[in-house]
Amino acid sequence: MTQSSNADWLARSQAAVWHPCTQMQHHAQTASPGHLPLIPIASGKGAWLYDFDGKRYLDGISSWWTNLFGHANPRINAALKDQLETLEHVMLAGFTHQPVVELSERLSALTGGALGHAFYASDGASATEIALKMSFHYWRNVGRPGKARFLCLQGSYHGETVGALAVTDVAIFKDAYAPLVRAATVIPSPDFRLAETGESPADVARRAAAGLEAHLEKHGEHIAALIVEPLVQGAAGMAMYDPEYLRLARQLCDRYEVHLICDEIAVGCGRTGTFFAHEQAGIRPDLMCLSKGISGGYLPLSIVLSSDTIYNAFLDDSVARAFLHSHSYTGNPLACRAALATLDIFESDDVLAANRQKSAKISAALAPLANHPQVRHLRQRGMIAAFDVATDDPHFSRKFYRAALDREALIRPIGNTVYLMPPYIIGDEEIDHLARAINGALAAAL
Ligand SMILES: *Cc1c(COP(=O)(O)O)cnc(C)c1O
Repeated sequence: MTQSSNADWLARSQAAVWHPCTQMQHHAQTASPGHLPLIPIASGKGAWLYDFDGKRYLDGISSWWTNLFGHANPRINAALKDQLETLEHVMLAGFTHQPVVELSERLSALTGGALGHAFYASDGASATEIALKMSFHYWRNVGRPGKARFLCLQGSYHGETVGALAVTDVAIFKDAYAPLVRAATVIPSPDFRLAETGESPADVARRAAAGLEAHLEKHGEHIAALIVEPLVQGAAGMAMYDPEYLRLARQLCDRYEVHLICDEIAVGCGRTGTFFAHEQAGIRPDLMCLSKGISGGYLPLSIVLSSDTIYNAFLDDSVARAFLHSHSYTGNPLACRAALATLDIFESDDVLAANRQKSAKISAALAPLANHPQVRHLRQRGMIAAFDVATDDPHFSRKFYRAALDREALIRPIGNTVYLMPPYIIGDEEIDHLARAINGALAAAL
């Protein structure tokens, strides 16, 4: 069985694989205006992906924001090979193992001990559900079962399982399933693009926090938690906001006895300049969700970190007061080992310092775009850069994506927002390559 060309694999994939986040007809019908080519990837190395026809693509979005240190990273590969020979998996109820203990200890240390209890799952949406269930169950355990509602921000994205959709405010993912979902209350976003004349990003943050306060004043006794994506609302189109919002939200949550859940699934692991994004506000959440980059982009892994206060409220002789949630692969040793190897690289290479240089290089490479007549809100936070494109063309995002692929770059806009979220091993020449691809793709797509 020798299958060696893109054409063979894409035909077989279209027939047998139901791809995520995809209208399959757009792959099947080349005549459709929404047509998109499916790209079979043969291998990856560093920031590059290679297809079966010998074409290469620079991974400008870290394969859906997961890959931090490149594909086929030699250090992560070596750690995984060693783990594979030692212990591939054991159930985490009643058993424990070295990688899960070490990872939990190191994550606790990274929060200064504030979030010292690590609960494991395999994907981001499950982490969201776990955090919501923990918050609700905490209030029930302390005798306040009436605190059963959640707040999320306008444009929020916390995953797409039925429970996570409750706190996701992206119409295209949510509308079809609305009858299944017990929707949370959506409160104003601090997105600084919403600034009115004369308002600074901090002013927008204060205005959004006033909206939160008004809601808590009326309904606080029924609210279990507020969930936020700290500093950058990713799936909303890289909506960025001032850390002032997190400071004020922390104060308000304390005042009205509401948990603050930070979903750091996309923005954690150094993406915004600090290891966790919430650090830039000088606060700690009560619960934090991690996934995506934590395993270096290698294996499905998610973690919910909780405070002592929450953890202690579950300790009792009664099983019903315990957090009984579980997944078959909870705390998988291979995934935990990939995460440990990822944290090792952060330490040994002083990645946060190196990223400051790369982030400055990205901003210099993209700066000329500010003069493009159709570019709006060029913005950046650490290793996330984005801008919006003023166009009425409903097919802009597909056209841009294809034009970027033609220029050896994987850049997949969200609606009219073009963004870069590259792996941290990206080099200066590769940053220039992405900037050239963006310029060329803009010219081709507009
Ligand atoms: C991707 C993402 C999720 C969901 O993670 P999955 O692993 O895709 O379920 C949740 N929250 C945020 C902020 C994300 O970016």
